[in-house]
Amino acid sequence: MQQAESLGAYGADIAVHYDRYTAASAMVETADRLNEAEATPQQYLLLVGGLRALARGDHAARSILDSYLLRAMAMSGWAPGLFDCARCGLPGPHSSFVAQLGGMVCRDCAPVGSVRVDGTTADLLQALIAGEWDVVDAAAPAATAASSGLVAAYAQWHLERGIRALEHVLNEPAEESRR
Ligand SMILES: [Zn+2]
Repeated sequence: MQQAESLGAYGADIAVHYDRYTAASAMVETADRLNEAEATPQQYLLLVGGLRALARGDHAARSILDSYLLRAMAMSGWAPGLFDCARCGLPGPHSSFVAQLGGMVCRDCAPVGSVRVDGTTADLLQALIAGEWDVVDAAAPAATAASSGLVAAYAQWHLERGIRALEHVLNEPAEESRR
């Protein structure tokens, strides 16, 4: 289908970089999963834009992937709550992220042992979904790694059946996000 063609158009520039290739694979697989329910031109354009950014090397491959995942899910009505508590609506900022509860949650809603998120990582998540690339590109590696882990966990949970190409992201340690 069209998505396979779009990957082919950028394939040469993507395939020579392993990180770009794995990010592109995860994006295409996610798009296919989302489009099983409803394929929209907006989702297609978002995917093509992401693949083009990967091919050009505009930003770090994982940041392009993370931004794509957040925006694609938001487009499907699954935007994570990143400021006010995703469960009870208590005004933010909060310091726990629970994928199963929809994003950032307040102290009362966070189960014991929840992943703690510092303010820098929370800001980075907001920048990724908003496409604020000056913030994303300037982020510290620790915050980038922490936010990647959260985005992957959130995507895995909300897409129900695991995205195989995301497993390598989840398997990488994101110790910076735990306290
Ligand atoms: Zn709450």
